[in-house]
Amino acid sequence: MSALPQELQTRLKASFGALFSVVERGLCGERAVTLRVNTLKTSAEEVAAALAAAGIEAVRAEWYPDAFLLSDAREDAVRALAMYERGEVYLQSFSSMLPPLVLAPAEGENLLDMTAAPGGKTTQLLALSGGKALITACERDAVRFSRLQFNLARQGAARVNARKTDALALDDALKFDKILLDAPCTGTGTLHAGSEARFSAAYLARCTALQRKLIKKARCLLKRGGTLVYSTCSLLPEENEGAVEEALRLGLRLLPVELPASVPRLPSREGTVCVCPTKAFEGFFIAKFTL
Ligand code: SAM
Repeated sequence: MSALPQELQTRLKASFGALFSVVERGLCGERAVTLRVNTLKTSAEEVAAALAAAGIEAVRAEWYPDAFLLSDAREDAVRALAMYERGEVYLQSFSSMLPPLVLAPAEGENLLDMTAAPGGKTTQLLALSGGKALITACERDAVRFSRLQFNLARQGAARVNARKTDALALDDALKFDKILLDAPCTGTGTLHAGSEARFSAAYLARCTALQRKLIKKARCLLKRGGTLVYSTCSLLPEENEGAVEEALRLGLRLLPVELPASVPRLPSREGTVCVCPTKAFEGFFIAKFTL
């Protein structure tokens, strides 16, 4: 019997048809532990050597040299390592590493991470810019904001301007070259064996309403010619293709998301990527826009 809530099964079947069984297997099966090398502090070669010295078997992702998949170690084994304590590695799902790669920040660019805690993507954005982008990171929840501050400090990302604020309340006069909107969502792509699978239509409606407001705000805050990356860890079209429709309605233009062919995909609107849940990847959605 599927571990997925009945209502979610119905919706996933409606979206993915014959591929539902692939989605179900990906969600209900085991998920491998993956980590990202924090190049603000160390190199992939040093991390590979430290993992090997600790007897942890790791495979480097061919699509991103800073990403490792651990063949059979648990997260606790990583947390026990000195390099984890020093913030040299960050436990992060492969799929969650994709939106910052798509946004591709560069030195000197003015970036906004609208909904940032716990901060895996914020620190990755800074690392991808060689530590040289100007990043504002917002989080409205106090507990999650503390976690963001802790992670920024540990990862050597103190130059990020972290703000405990509702991104919807940001001054419209602010303008950014690049914006990441890793939106709050139902999380239907990240369910896995052992996780508590909760889903309701009311929760979905609350998430989509907030996503629409955040997209509208992102549009106001984006410089002309700038780039917005919208992502969710959901597989539901209301939160993904529906959000794209809203962005287009607001005058944003869709740009193709370009990712290596080895990233597993489900069918999605042309130009966007819906990552198929597998042992290595969580279910995720990514769309890229300009103004
Ligand atoms: N990008 C994060 C990362 O990679 O670590 C994960 C972000 S999580 C999907 C969404 C976050 O948005 C949650 O921490 C939530 O509290 C926050 N959030 C929701 N609404 C918000 C708002 N209006 N302004 C700022 N943060 C918000």
